[in-house]
Amino acid sequence: MTDILIRTEGKAGRITLNRPKALNALSYAMCLAIEEALDRWAKDDSVALVVLDAEGDRAFCAGGDIQEMYDTGTAGDYDYGRRFWRDEYRMNAKIAEYPKPIVSFLHGFTMGGGVGLGGHCSHRIVCESTQIAMPECSIGFVPDVGGSYILAKAPGRLGEYLGLTATRMGPGDAIHAGFADAYVPEAEWDGLKSDLCSTGDVAAIPQHPAPDSPLADQQAEIDRLMGTEDLQGMLNQLRGDDSEFAAKTLSKLERIAPLSLAVTIEMLHRLRGPSLNIRKALELEYRVSHRVMEHGDFLEGIRAAIIDKDRTPKWRHTLDKVPAVDVSFMLRPLGKEALQFEREDTGMNIGFIGLGNMGAPMAANLAKAGHTVVGFDVAGTAAEGCAQATSAVEAATNADVVITMLPNGNILRSVADEIVPAMKSGAVLLDCSTVDVESARAVAEQAQSAGLGALDAPVSGGIGGAAGGTLTFMVGGSGDAFDIAKPLFDIMGQKAVHCGPAGNGQAAKICNNMILGVTMIATCEAFALADKLGLDRQAMFDVVSTSSGYSWTMNAYCPAPGVGPQSPADNGYKPGFAADLMLKDLRLAQQAAESADADTPMGAAAMALYQTFVENEDGAGQDFSAMLPRFETRGRD
Ligand code: NAD
Repeated sequence: MTDILIRTEGKAGRITLNRPKALNALSYAMCLAIEEALDRWAKDDSVALVVLDAEGDRAFCAGGDIQEMYDTGTAGDYDYGRRFWRDEYRMNAKIAEYPKPIVSFLHGFTMGGGVGLGGHCSHRIVCESTQIAMPECSIGFVPDVGGSYILAKAPGRLGEYLGLTATRMGPGDAIHAGFADAYVPEAEWDGLKSDLCSTGDVAAIPQHPAPDSPLADQQAEIDRLMGTEDLQGMLNQLRGDDSEFAAKTLSKLERIAPLSLAVTIEMLHRLRGPSLNIRKALELEYRVSHRVMEHGDFLEGIRAAIIDKDRTPKWRHTLDKVPAVDVSFMLRPLGKEALQFEREDTGMNIGFIGLGNMGAPMAANLAKAGHTVVGFDVAGTAAEGCAQATSAVEAATNADVVITMLPNGNILRSVADEIVPAMKSGAVLLDCSTVDVESARAVAEQAQSAGLGALDAPVSGGIGGAAGGTLTFMVGGSGDAFDIAKPLFDIMGQKAVHCGPAGNGQAAKICNNMILGVTMIATCEAFALADKLGLDRQAMFDVVSTSSGYSWTMNAYCPAPGVGPQSPADNGYKPGFAADLMLKDLRLAQQAAESADADTPMGAAAMALYQTFVENEDGAGQDFSAMLPRFETRGRD
């Protein structure tokens, strides 16, 4: 089950939000998937219109998924939120300017991000349960996702009233305020959707009279009380009025972030006028989004409303003291950081499955280099700068390249069974895990027969290389697929060697790691012998590292603490490269040697030793260089 269902039905492209338990909250991955589908259908003559709806009874979409924004923002990383908003706003503009009709079905809660999605469509349908609102000011933000555009166009000063107080609109109010176009009772929706799909014609939308709008009845009062120059003027106006409406409105404003109120009023004033369009509104909103975590009340607002739920936010300002300079700072142009509406096409869409010790930093490096990365891990781990999918299929669906970084061949095979049918034709499945040659070749064949490119590209260089972008890739697969993945290898690593057809990358990897395992044992046993012969470890290192006994295990990854460059030995033998993984690779080498009838006695001995170490001697979870303390304590028996 994925968070969003994208398919075509008859003459319609169909997008259905499918997170009913989360009130269909819009995640970053969902935004990217919607944009990709809209781009595709804009050019597809068989799609006449788009139908946008949502599963579940309670909500079309209750807002954006802000948990990860909060987590990254409170850790001082504002880039994730900025990227989410930037890409979401671009998608909002795309909906508003779409060349074909988009019909949105807005039932239940339709708020914030949900308005950005359903509120800019050419045909917006509401029903009995509809509750539309722009509640951002109450979490220390401002109406965004193009909401300021609709608010600025609302009759009289209704925009101020709705934007500042977060008042919920039923169907009649939503039509009066310009957030919706047509009322259709929900009982008629299924029939209407099938008519739209079969005819591809919006003439199928019935004409029902709009329900009453209580807000329309209050319009004169709203215009009288909220048509002031600034926040202070509005407060004075409300305080000086003895109506019940004024008292209620004032008590609502007293709970909301003062800076948000003042900035929203200024935004609506700037936007109103003949040159108003969706892009102008989104560009202005993004000036605030870009700054709001660092300089506004957004993180505190989310903390109080959603995280701690104490509902006692400590805003930066008091209601009567919001300096004009603080308002204009939030709205200052962003220069080269300004919102762009053209998608930078230098970046690829990458799905990254397996965000463990290696995968997470590799994915983060790709995101940092400007690619759009959607990650997934069964353990729920995330990678910096990457959107998080809730399934492997979701991460893979729109990707140009899907990278897997998984524990073993069986897991790779089962993930491939899931994602290969979901990947778009011509995309590349790039497996960077270390697995058996047979699994690598089977998955490559499966991918190729589904019209995909496939590469096995295991790595050398460990966690340090993954974090530093200095891995070496040993790559098997077609030259065409290699060329597509080459720019990604250049980001994640310093070298990629094309070793031949599918499976050859894994062949190179297990041969390399068989040497590594054997050499580490040789290095450790030599240190233990040197100890017993009374040779100082530093002297041993100085000699061997510059003599014919030198090796990567001695020179770059010395197993003796305090000697040579920093290595896991200096960190209590915390991996690094775990002994369990070394054992896995040595087993793979023996399995391959068996099937190829190759004589590998040293490899076999190394495998047996790591097996004993991992299974019987507490080696599991230690770095593979922890062989040295093992030898240290042993005699000849
Ligand atoms: P890891 O255990 O830290 O990460 C593997 C991740 O895969 C885990 O987070 C796990 O939750 C996830 N996972 C498992 N099944 C999954 C599924 N079905 N769908 C999505 N995610 C799933 O391991 P690692 O150290 O990152 O190693 C990954 C691969 O890289 C292994 O094949 C390993 O042999 C190889 N490798 C590791 C190193 C190293 O130094 N750690 C070096 C070179 C190669």
